[in-house]
Amino acid sequence: MDSTDNIILQRKQFFIESIAKFCDKCGTPYTVDDLNIVQNTGMSTIIHFSCSNCKSKHVATFVSSLGMTQRVPINTDLDSSELDKFMPKSEIEPQEILDVYEVLEDSDTVRI
Ligand SMILES: [Zn+2]
Repeated sequence: MDSTDNIILQRKQFFIESIAKFCDKCGTPYTVDDLNIVQNTGMSTIIHFSCSNCKSKHVATFVSSLGMTQRVPINTDLDSSELDKFMPKSEIEPQEILDVYEVLEDSDTVRI
């Protein structure tokens, strides 16, 4: 394993502990193999969680400057490489993050 792989594994482990240790549906613990870092900008990271047991999928966004995460289930059969095509490529603007927060006010946003 080279050092780049090692850093990615450490990041994935961090996201498991910060965002979701277990599958919402069946409670199976996530492993680093169940995560895919879809997009990583300086400001935010989009992580795709896929349960190896029940195949349910979630997408989480981690906003590093705010230490906030949000997680939404996705009802799609897309795998994470296909999902990547639909993700915006540009940096997220601060106003967009504020908009997201308003939408998420009543959801299970996690502060870490
Ligand atoms: Zn599951």
